[in-house]
Amino acid sequence: MLDKPIYVTQPSLPPLEELIPYLEQIWKNKVLTNGGQFHEQLEEALCEYLSVPFISLFSNGTIALITALKALAIQGDVITTPYSFVATAHSLLWNGIIPVFVDIDPVTLNLDPNKIESVITDRTKAILPVHVYGTPCDVDAIDAIAKSHNLKVIYDAAHAFGVCDQNGSILNYGDLSVLSFHATKVFNTFEGGAIVCQDAKTKQYIDQLKNFGFTSETSVVQTGINGKMNEFNAAVGLLQLQYIDEHIEKRKAIDVAYREGLKDIVGIRCHTPSQVKSPNYSYFPIFVGDDYTLTRDELYEKLKANGINGRRYFYPLITEFPMYQQGKKETIAKYLEAELLSKQVICLPIHPNLAKVEQEQIVFEIRTPATIFK
Ligand SMILES: *Cc1c(COP(=O)(O)O)cnc(C)c1O
Repeated sequence: MLDKPIYVTQPSLPPLEELIPYLEQIWKNKVLTNGGQFHEQLEEALCEYLSVPFISLFSNGTIALITALKALAIQGDVITTPYSFVATAHSLLWNGIIPVFVDIDPVTLNLDPNKIESVITDRTKAILPVHVYGTPCDVDAIDAIAKSHNLKVIYDAAHAFGVCDQNGSILNYGDLSVLSFHATKVFNTFEGGAIVCQDAKTKQYIDQLKNFGFTSETSVVQTGINGKMNEFNAAVGLLQLQYIDEHIEKRKAIDVAYREGLKDIVGIRCHTPSQVKSPNYSYFPIFVGDDYTLTRDELYEKLKANGINGRRYFYPLITEFPMYQQGKKETIAKYLEAELLSKQVICLPIHPNLAKVEQEQIVFEIRTPATIFK
């Protein structure tokens, strides 16, 4: 038993004393929000760090998702994944859009492009895929489908901060990509989010939408919302950015050690999609098979009893929440891969402050009742 509980995502915090000069600046300037200096600086710094042309900061990722759909005037049906955080689908409902769920690819855990086309109708207006755990979607296949059916693509990139493939940032695919800077994410501003877009005109429109729809002091042209990031969160972001590479390096070491420690356990499988050019090690999901000595939930409870708080991301599936189950039972579609993996998954603790002894303890707890491959 450990002295204190281990959480799956303990937020990373920069040294407190380094935040003080930023706070002094805010108190001196008395600009607290509405595009102050730290907001501007963070947008610039993130464009550079992430290699994206335009970014618009938000108060959180969910409001950013809702605004992204609004910015492209999406109505009708949108295709998305059941294997995600509920905010993905909620953002559609907030826009009066009907979510159409499609099963996932068991290797990437993202929307399976081979299953998208069969559900496209003339009501379909867009695809909202998620780069789950920071694993890139099959962006080329999704792009090809979108082009041939004239659909928009908005990526929920809440897990994908800093992830690159062979062409550069994965945030540059599709029409828009949406980030979350929530406390539990790889890069956090306590609460925060952003929309990445590819041209200045779209950025200007998004900036108007996040500020009530104002285009000038006296004119309002759209049903905008209040989605602005304030100066405090932006200052935290500027400071966090100085530590992000170090934090990702520490996560990488944990990822490597987990893979080594768990590699020969019967019934435990680590998520291993094909090589990504620069991953962010945001999550460490394991899948507990029938041949493990405990069920997934027994292992989850056993870890918890020992102070180790894994998370069953994503269980239940979005489609399993009663509010997403419209229609009669027999007409509810099946998402076989997502259903299976959702029942097997546990995300193990991974964050920059996870000590080596804590990690070894986690591996030990998973190994002890298990059968080991000889
Ligand atoms: C965290 C998360 C969101 C929501 O972001 P918030 O900043 O918490 O509002 C949306 N989608 C996914 C996949 C997430 O993990």
